[in-house]
Amino acid sequence: MITIPKGTKDVLPSESYKWHYVENMAREVARAFAVKEIRTPTFEHTELFLRGVGDTTDIVNKEMYTFLDKGERSITLKPEGTAGVARAFIQNGLQNGAMPLKMYYITPVFRYERPQAGRLREHHQFGVEFYGGVGADLDAEVILLAYTLLTKLGLKVELNINSMGCSKCRAEYNKALKAFLSSKVDAMCPTCKQRYEKNPLRILDCKEDACKQICLDAPKITDYLCQDCSEHFENLKTYLNISNLKFNVNPKIVRGLDYYTRTVFEFVTTSLGSQGTVCGGGRYDGLISQIGGDSVPGVGFGMGLERVLMLMEAENVLIPNEDNVDVFIASSGANANFKAFELCNALRQKGVKAETDHMQRSFKAQFKYADKINAKYVIALGDNELESGIVNVKKMADFTQVECKVDEIVNFKF
Ligand code: ATP
Ligand code: MG
Repeated sequence: MITIPKGTKDVLPSESYKWHYVENMAREVARAFAVKEIRTPTFEHTELFLRGVGDTTDIVNKEMYTFLDKGERSITLKPEGTAGVARAFIQNGLQNGAMPLKMYYITPVFRYERPQAGRLREHHQFGVEFYGGVGADLDAEVILLAYTLLTKLGLKVELNINSMGCSKCRAEYNKALKAFLSSKVDAMCPTCKQRYEKNPLRILDCKEDACKQICLDAPKITDYLCQDCSEHFENLKTYLNISNLKFNVNPKIVRGLDYYTRTVFEFVTTSLGSQGTVCGGGRYDGLISQIGGDSVPGVGFGMGLERVLMLMEAENVLIPNEDNVDVFIASSGANANFKAFELCNALRQKGVKAETDHMQRSFKAQFKYADKINAKYVIALGDNELESGIVNVKKMADFTQVECKVDEIVNFKF
């Protein structure tokens, strides 16, 4: 038997309604925030991610699915959503249009990770990218959009925010952090030993106990913000406060990607064990110029949809199944079978979710099947009903039934 590759998942027909529910809700909330969808390719030139995501990140260092195509070009499967959108923005000259430009995406994401619960090699993200505005009002909107969606999905999450400053304040902070860490390098995990030289900030994000311990008393980036960055952060807090959105300031949040400036944030839950980050994002004012465009500021987030669904399950959120049929027309006898087929088709043309038997089953077996597929109503159509021209329409929730003329079934309010 050929089996599924490690770290990937099938979404089976009995489960896909849950994905539709989450995706539809994401689209609905995006529309309420005046955000339009952008779709970019599943693969891009590797160089885009090297420059856009940053070569000191875990993603670029060890997680990318990179290969040479038949034309010897280095290609990489999307390891996150932002870089592709930024590339499309530049290539299509979108900076010449009306600003801000608010976009969202729903996309598969590929990362070569050690698979475990909530950590896959192919997962899916809903994300947004708002380009053009420098004010903290846009940061707050991005956060509110994620919060609105998570809440509409019935989830309880905590919001952590931080500011990573700009290149100016970060240089100062990096110096202070390195000075603090210099005597502790020997006790760090091998990855952090390297980070110490290349990107010491990322050590704050390390999940190894030894490194967490080391960072307990590390200087806080929020103490090193320049005047402008500090004002921006205070404004963000004001916008969140007037929106009644509670948050914690957590100076240890630095996020995994190199492109962030100023605001970074995470929505976390304790219900998913160590894979508790459901959504992460922030501001990246340097990204567009970093990959060759004009200097255009941006802010956005990525939300892991598998984790959202796991959390909904953990919190027993009931997801309505829109796939269930409205009516099952059971039939017996050649003429009734033809009639059931005809009625079924007529109902479907009107948008009613209708189904009939395709397995030559007995009436009894058809009723059992109708029950199994959660049909809302069941109609039995045999020679008697054809003769009298009247059927019983049975509501499966309470087994009540009403009479209906066969000719009127297409007009019945299921
Ligand atoms: P983590 O710290 O869990 O590795 P990350 O910092 O790599 O997360 P991002 O790159 O910001 O995460 O991705 C955004 C969101 O995508 C995460 O908050 C998470 O919900 C989800 N996510 C990231 N990696 C995976 C994965 N391998 N499998 C499933 N979901 C993931
Ligand atoms: Mg990661």
